[in-house]
Amino acid sequence: MLDPIIELQDLTKKYDQFIAVNRLSLSIQKGEVFGLLGPNGAGKSTTILMMLGLSEPTSGSVRVCGINSTREPILVKQKVGYLPDDVGFYEDLTGYENLIYTAELNRLSKEEAIRRAKELLARVGLSDAADKKAGAYSRGMRQRLGLADVLIKQPEVIILDEPTLGIDPAGVKELLQLIQRLSRDEGITVLLSSHHLHQVQQICDRVGIFVQGRLLAVGDVSALSRQLFAEDLFILEVGVKQLSPDLIEQLMQIDDVTSVKQNNELLFISCSRDLTGEIAETIVRSGARLTYLNQKQYGLDEIYHRYFERGEVK
Ligand code: ADP
Ligand code: MG
Repeated sequence: MLDPIIELQDLTKKYDQFIAVNRLSLSIQKGEVFGLLGPNGAGKSTTILMMLGLSEPTSGSVRVCGINSTREPILVKQKVGYLPDDVGFYEDLTGYENLIYTAELNRLSKEEAIRRAKELLARVGLSDAADKKAGAYSRGMRQRLGLADVLIKQPEVIILDEPTLGIDPAGVKELLQLIQRLSRDEGITVLLSSHHLHQVQQICDRVGIFVQGRLLAVGDVSALSRQLFAEDLFILEVGVKQLSPDLIEQLMQIDDVTSVKQNNELLFISCSRDLTGEIAETIVRSGARLTYLNQKQYGLDEIYHRYFERGEVK
């Protein structure tokens, strides 16, 4: 069943003595939407350039669609659509003309070029702006045109470097949903990089957390949180009034409660299983007033910050 379409093995890139990418091994399956997540300078763009054969690894190997990107960069570029973090268009040509230009570069016939350009402009929601010059497009429109541009040659894989950079929140949501739909409808594998964790976690089947050239963890968001938060998987945020002096002690005595922190009338209770019922009951029985109760779910932001706090490198 496993059918890796991107395979990195011990991929390493050094700039002089500086290690930008450090022994990165990763397999991405056909049809997956994979998020390469990490702060600025993590080595995301460097990794992407090596996948495309645009930068040569210092050591290790990279295969995309079964092709060794380093040895056969031209072949890889035929199969992979790449949206760089600063998309360049001919600013004086319209969106439509830019797509036709790319189509012709990719040796599509005139009729096919026209057909695909129109179809893709509709797909990315730019039909109305098709005849506007690309130079007059907003950042969000440029990213959507970029996506259409990348799809012209019907790639098996698309690689998007920070596609949401500089777009307003509504535009981000729209763009990400578009990417997800494309992947689902046409079975395209997507690798996207981002340093905005909360934005992309909704659409990624799996994410890799990448910091200082090293991949710290890979998995779906819930698996990552299980792995990281094994001891205190559930955190309850509880509002309590009229606390009795020994309530915190009573809560600590419940099996599987690992810590209780107090901030005025708010308690933060960590437990290794869902103890919502027992905790609520203990509070009420102590004579205190329960004003609010919220079970916190871990998102990528928490996962990511926890890695930073611990400074853990696998
Ligand atoms: P990201 O895309 O995750 O922000 P990059 O891959 O662009 O990170 O950069 C990773 C590190 O490698 C950074 O510290 C950057 O300064 C360094 N770097 C990138 N390209 C070069 C280069 N051509 N020469 C020297 N250092 C570079
Ligand atoms: Mg980058």
